[in-house]
Amino acid sequence: MEPKYIFVTGGVVSSLGKGIISASLACLLKARGYRVTIQKFDPYINIDPGTLNPYEHGECYVTVDGHEADLDLGHYERFTNVNTTRANNVTTGRIYQSVIDKERRGDYLGKTVQIIPHITDEIKRNVKLLGNTGNFDFIITEIGGTIGDIESLPFIESVRQLRWELGENSLCIHLTYVPYLHAAKELKTKPTQHSVKLLQEAGIQPDILVLRTEQDIPAAMRRKIAQFCNVSPEAVVQSIDCSSIYEVPVMMHAQHLDEIVLRKTGVTPTQEPHMAPWMHFLEKMHAATEEVNIALVGKYVELQDAYKSINEALFHAATYSDRKLNLTSIHSEKITKENVDGLLKDMDGVIVAPGFGQRGVEGKLTALEWCRTNDVPTFGICLGMQCMVIEFARNVLGLKEANSTEVNPTTKDNVIDLMEEQKSLSNLGGTMRLGAYDCRLAEGSRAAAAYGTTDIKERHRHRFEFNNDYRRRYEEAGMKCVGENPSTHLVEVIEIPEKRWWIGTQYHPEYSSTVLNPHPLFTDFIKAAVKYRGERLMEEFAETKN
Ligand code: GLN
Repeated sequence: MEPKYIFVTGGVVSSLGKGIISASLACLLKARGYRVTIQKFDPYINIDPGTLNPYEHGECYVTVDGHEADLDLGHYERFTNVNTTRANNVTTGRIYQSVIDKERRGDYLGKTVQIIPHITDEIKRNVKLLGNTGNFDFIITEIGGTIGDIESLPFIESVRQLRWELGENSLCIHLTYVPYLHAAKELKTKPTQHSVKLLQEAGIQPDILVLRTEQDIPAAMRRKIAQFCNVSPEAVVQSIDCSSIYEVPVMMHAQHLDEIVLRKTGVTPTQEPHMAPWMHFLEKMHAATEEVNIALVGKYVELQDAYKSINEALFHAATYSDRKLNLTSIHSEKITKENVDGLLKDMDGVIVAPGFGQRGVEGKLTALEWCRTNDVPTFGICLGMQCMVIEFARNVLGLKEANSTEVNPTTKDNVIDLMEEQKSLSNLGGTMRLGAYDCRLAEGSRAAAAYGTTDIKERHRHRFEFNNDYRRRYEEAGMKCVGENPSTHLVEVIEIPEKRWWIGTQYHPEYSSTVLNPHPLFTDFIKAAVKYRGERLMEEFAETKN
């Protein structure tokens, strides 16, 4: 079949969850056997979100091919189990850069280069890149921002042109917000009507409306919206707040969103989506009552989206272990030798987060010393792993000044140091060691047992690395380098085998945990945490009996 293009736009307010709706639709179409991909077009001028700090844009996600991407791509992968690439996330900056490069090369043959047609043509070319590969039946394109924003106008105009060119092979889903006014005890549809009008003024008639709401929208009100907005009544779907984002596909299917999309793009639905594995996950999620207490130590803990993929990976793993994840975020800058015991003593497992710069590093080291000496299951990711290495140097190897040169460039024991190829770089954008690299795990290591294999590939985003000059000293003292890149010998995984669970990874396993494929290291970590919790409960029980 010819590729079908689904455009998802948003109106009224931002943060409505266009990414989750796009991912949910993709999940349903995939469960019907179609080949689906989702891409996001972001109207900001940064080339990619790699240089944005988490206060601006939450977590930076990394694709297998080494692209620093919007965190919505994480949702796409978690919901569909399909890897995304650089082509799945395009910004205004990328579009302009490409057009300007072409202009400098003389590709425009002396023409005046303009937003229309040159920028819009470049947007359209990018929208169709994945469709042109022949690998996909459905290409879902999420347009970032809110209708009416100046910066998204060229994208909206491109969608208008594409709708015209593609006809039945495309459709537009518009997501809006229906607020509930408590004082008047009423749901209000006017913002939706206005938002659809804006879209119509831009020449786009939405085919489907998804209404975000905190209260059930009565059928009569949905019919009224359908009438005002030229949309068929069954194509006005509500997206009511629910306890977990993973419920959304089911909620959308109950209102036939996937079927409506098929019919409106000229495809006859032949079978129901095969959602059994997904439902199995949801059943476990609902049935779990016993908790597992995990602490996440990081410096951006007050931001909901800063560690999105870690939160989700922990949640997947806990759910498959029949546990309710009770995640406590602990601000690394607030951890001191005096309060660390109080902060961590009830934890079944501790995860030390990735990060950049020196802020919060000392708190992470204090937490790690406490975890190591108290033998609590502990997982260090990227900077978290580097902190494990520094802590061990200071408190076990006796190298009191040991540090990463990122924190102290003149440290005499540079156990973590800048990678050789990073030393000559001056640009910050897109220059880290990025994307998936091979890693060979040592036979018999805990990590290899967790993965069930010794050959893995994981995604990276860092400039600093374990300094191999110190490797022998670490290994003799009990901290093993159990994973390394087979060609460069960069150390990718460390563990202390004699501890309950003490693993650090230079890479980011959280990026590849999905609902249907929870990540083996997270699963093993949660299992160890659950076991440790059981041991502590037994001890307490024995004490009360005595
Ligand atoms: N700042 C460290 C480095 O660049 C760790 C990066 C990270 O945690 N993603 O190597």
